[in-house]
Amino acid sequence: MTNQQRIFLSPPHMSGNEQKYINQAFETNWIAPLGPNVDSFEQELAEYVGTKGAAAVSSGTAAIHLALELLGVQKGDRVFCSTFTFVASANPILYLGAEPVFIDSEPETWNMSPVALAKAFTDAKKEGKLPKAVIVVNLYGQSAKMDEIVSLCEKYNVPIIEDAAESLGSLYKGKKSGTFGKFGIYSFNGNKIITTSGGGMLVSDDEEALQKARFLATQARDPAPHYQHSQIGYNYRLSNILAGVGRAQLEVLDNRVSARRKIFDRYVTALGSIEGIEFMPELEGTISNRWLSTLLIDPEILSVTPYEMINALAEENIEARPLWKPLHLQPLFKESQLYSHSEDLVTSEDLFKKGLCLPSGSNMQKESQDRVIRVIEQQINRKMLVN
Ligand SMILES: *Cc1c(COP(=O)(O)O)cnc(C)c1O
Repeated sequence: MTNQQRIFLSPPHMSGNEQKYINQAFETNWIAPLGPNVDSFEQELAEYVGTKGAAAVSSGTAAIHLALELLGVQKGDRVFCSTFTFVASANPILYLGAEPVFIDSEPETWNMSPVALAKAFTDAKKEGKLPKAVIVVNLYGQSAKMDEIVSLCEKYNVPIIEDAAESLGSLYKGKKSGTFGKFGIYSFNGNKIITTSGGGMLVSDDEEALQKARFLATQARDPAPHYQHSQIGYNYRLSNILAGVGRAQLEVLDNRVSARRKIFDRYVTALGSIEGIEFMPELEGTISNRWLSTLLIDPEILSVTPYEMINALAEENIEARPLWKPLHLQPLFKESQLYSHSEDLVTSEDLFKKGLCLPSGSNMQKESQDRVIRVIEQQINRKMLVN
C-alpha cells in the first residue's frame, strides 16, 4: 500500500458560489422542499437544456419513477429499458409492478441497440403487448443513437424517457442530451458531473405533465382547505438549500464538461495507441461530456484483466471501477427478457467483461492523472515481460 493521497473516481467539485445561494435560503428562511432556489433552478436548467420546463426532485431515480407514473405505467405493463446501465434506470419499473424488457447495447455508442429494439418491438407487436414506455440511457456521457431510436418509437407510438443522469451537458447533433423523449431525467448525485449532494430533475416540453409531476411529488394533495388525497403521492421534491447548490453548479457546467473532455483526451494521448486498449467511442455528430473516462482492455493481447488492473490501481490508492454490470445479469432481474444486438454476442456482456472506468473528476490535477497513467503502463509492461 502507498501513503499517496487517494484519487477518487468522480468526486464533487464545488465552484465556490454555492454558499451564496445557500445563504440566501437561510436569510429568507426558505428551509423547505420548495422556495425561490427551487423555482430558479428549474427555470435555469430548462433554459440550459432547451426544454419548456423542468421539475426539481430529490433524485434521478424519483424523476424516472414520476415519468413512468405520468405515462400511466401500471402493474403488468411492459417497459423497454437499456440493459447496460445502473440499476436506478430500471428500479422504478419494479416500483410500479411493471415488467422490464431489456435491450442490449451496440458497439458504436455502447448504448441501446436500434437493431435489438426493432426486434423487441416486432415481437411485442405480434404478442399484442407493446411497452408503455422505452427508457433509453446515455452512459458515461455518450448519447445513444437517438435518430434511429426516436423513429422506431414513433413508428410504434411509444413514448421515450431519456435517462440522461450521466449525460448532462452532452450534445446530440447540436441538441442537448436528455431532450429527445417525452421526458428526460438528470441526476445530481454526489458523483455526477454537477451535484447537489443528492437531487434530480425531470424535464419535458409538456408543462401540464410537469405540473402533475410536482403534484405527485408533494403527496398528491388535492385542492381543498383540509388535507384531501385521492391518489398515491410521493415526497420527492428537492430542498431549497440543495437547489441553491444546484444553481451554482449549473453556472460552471460547461467548464466541467471541457475539463472532463481534457482528462479523457490526456488518457487517450498516453494510452490510446497501446494495442489491446480501446477507449469509449464518440458517435459522429455527438459531443460527450465524458463524465467518466472508460476503456476496454483485451486480456488476450495484454495478459491483464480489468479486475487485475483495478486491483493494481487500488494498491496505489486510486479508485477505478468495472463498467456497469448489465441488468439482465443481475439476480434482481433474472426473470426478465433480453433482446440482443447480434445472434452470437451480447454486446453489453462483452463490454462488461473488458471495460473499466478511470478517475475522471473535473478537479483532478495533472500530477494525479499522471500517477494513474503510470500504474496502468507499469501493469501492462510487467505482464508483457512475464508472458
Ligand atoms: C446516477 C444514475 C441514476 C440515478 O440517479 P440518482 O440521483 O442517484 O437517483 C439513474 N440512471 C443512471 C444511468 C445513473 O447513472
